[in-house]
Amino acid sequence: MSEHREVVIIGSGPAGLTAAIYTARANLNPVILEGEPSSTSDQPGGQLMLTTEVENFPGFPEGITGPELMLNLRSQAARFGATILTVKSSRVDFSQRPFRVWVGDPHAEPTYLADSVIVATGAQSLMLGIEAERRLIGHGLSTCATCDGFFFREHDICVVGGGDSALEEAMFLTRFANSVTIIHRRDQLRASKIMQDRARSNPKIRFMWNSVVEDIVGDASVTGVVVRNLETGVVDEHPFTGVFVAIGHRPTTDLFVGQLELKDNGYIVTEAKSTRTSVDGVFACGDVQDDYYRQAITAAGSGCAAAIDAERWLEAQAG
Ligand code: NAP
Repeated sequence: MSEHREVVIIGSGPAGLTAAIYTARANLNPVILEGEPSSTSDQPGGQLMLTTEVENFPGFPEGITGPELMLNLRSQAARFGATILTVKSSRVDFSQRPFRVWVGDPHAEPTYLADSVIVATGAQSLMLGIEAERRLIGHGLSTCATCDGFFFREHDICVVGGGDSALEEAMFLTRFANSVTIIHRRDQLRASKIMQDRARSNPKIRFMWNSVVEDIVGDASVTGVVVRNLETGVVDEHPFTGVFVAIGHRPTTDLFVGQLELKDNGYIVTEAKSTRTSVDGVFACGDVQDDYYRQAITAAGSGCAAAIDAERWLEAQAG
């Protein structure tokens, strides 16, 4: 039989868990479907589970590891009575109320009937798909210059990609690194003209054209990068001690295609200054609706906003 809940939260990064803390403390008895271990992560909890040291989350002057921060958020949600389940939602139907949410067999009876749903399924950085990435992420390999640039003072490092993100990351990283080499698979950048001009005129930025990363070398941390030149076929190892992969992001929205309005790039559309989606009673927070800030603290902040939006919406329905 389906279980009726006032709030079902799908996703358990900082956004989902913050929404759980707030809705639990508002006595809404939320259930949070935190996801399952995947090919890119051994545990649910989102991108922070792949991060080592987090130094920019306010309140932790000495820093905190990503998994520890997630564990703290999870314990805090549990303390206020949120039900946290290590399962994935397999299907949603937002066409009628109460909303229907499935776990497991999508053809069976819905697992939950939900008065409101908070979507916090996050986004993933696209990766190159080489084995070393899994081993070295957080150990010299990063997907976030804002988060990790600080650790690369005086290093010679590289950024992979040729879009606006790659150039923006590269320019930010020049504040810390000795040199930043942009490794791009073509001889033309995809990035906007203004970003290209800025990057090309930065004396710390170099370009490696028509080149792909074949391997990243190092045991405890990155010590080199193996690059193949696609024109000449020559393969060389370069002594970079940091690698930033900036080849784009993918929001986790497959479940919501046809259910919620999505942007061309797949992110969920939310109404300005709120977490309201195209469906009344369904809210979205964190990276799944944010293709701009993408920070743990902005995700947590929007999780709080989603909880308050849901709480007020439920109250208005009851009134
Ligand atoms: P993007 O525009 O899709 O660029 C991705 C880059 O990565 C491309 O240069 C692509 O190469 C390369 N790439 C993709 N897969 C690869 C692979 N497997 N191996 C090697 N290289 C690979 O993504 P983005 O830079 O993250 O930008 C996303 C959107 O946000 C864009 O619309 C961008 O303009 C916007 N944005 C704007 C700003 C800003 O204005 N300040 C900053 C960041 C992002 P190819 O070029 O060969 O396809």
